[in-house]
Amino acid sequence: MTRRITAIDDLAAAVDDQAHWAERALCQETDPDAFFPEKGENVSKGAKRVCGACPVDVECLAYALANNERFGIWGGKTERERRKILKESA
Ligand code: SF4
Repeated sequence: MTRRITAIDDLAAAVDDQAHWAERALCQETDPDAFFPEKGENVSKGAKRVCGACPVDVECLAYALANNERFGIWGGKTERERRKILKESA
């Protein structure tokens, strides 16, 4: 029972942490489609520019790397760029 409570507490803390930084995400004020280009579609430079000015770009990228987010632009990095980061840090 204690283990289950700990897991729930950990999950709640993670959700709180995510909500904390996500509330300051600059992309919430823009077109979300720009951050999730269709396969074969060029990555929006506008989206990367928004990420470059975002106050939580580090948290966003860390979240995406930790959760193996496979699609979209997170922390200013494309899926391919995130894969490279993970490969180089392995
Ligand atoms: S870094 Fe980019 S994708 Fe991440 S929260 Fe900021 S604007 Fe959104």
